[in-house]
Amino acid sequence: MQTISEQDQQILLKSIRDIPDFPKPGIIFKDITTLLSNPKALNTLMTHLEERYKAYDLDYIAGIDARGFIFGSILADRLKVGFVPVRKKGKLPYTTVAEKYALEYGFDEVEIHIDAFGETEGAKVLLIDDLIATGGTAKAAANLIDRVGAKCVEACFIMELDFLKARDTFKTPVYSVLHID
Ligand code: AMP
Repeated sequence: MQTISEQDQQILLKSIRDIPDFPKPGIIFKDITTLLSNPKALNTLMTHLEERYKAYDLDYIAGIDARGFIFGSILADRLKVGFVPVRKKGKLPYTTVAEKYALEYGFDEVEIHIDAFGETEGAKVLLIDDLIATGGTAKAAANLIDRVGAKCVEACFIMELDFLKARDTFKTPVYSVLHID
């Protein structure tokens, strides 16, 4: 199983910017726009993900709204598989399946098209997003993939906030390129 070298981790960590107190006081926002605009960092990341996942025999990549769309689309093209968006409520135009998840205060909801993975029952899907914090969004997205007849074989994140211990609550394997203490 392919993991990332220490040297490549440093290239990526240096390319991500910390924005304190965004979007609210106390949150350190991990800004990946500086990774995207850095060609060496973006290429390092995508080549690592391609190397890791080329042996998985995937049928689709599903990306979470909105930063998961960027990494997911590039990876899908590299692996020559389809890309499927998991969107926030009310954005997808066709018939959808929805899953609610709890936030600190209240609820949010993600949706997927009912026919997102075509006719193939049990299509192998990799779920991807930029960051896992509490894991609520990704778990809801993984449930959606399973509910429309596919199989979420792994959930992949560019960064994981280790102190929130979200991976312990996942039934699917979790892979994170970078770990934040
Ligand atoms: P969660 O459902 O708590 O795992 O939150 C994950 C979602 O919120 C992802 O789509 C992230 O992009 C976003 N997110 C949460 N915390 C941060 C953070 N500190 N920096 C950047 N994005 C974050």
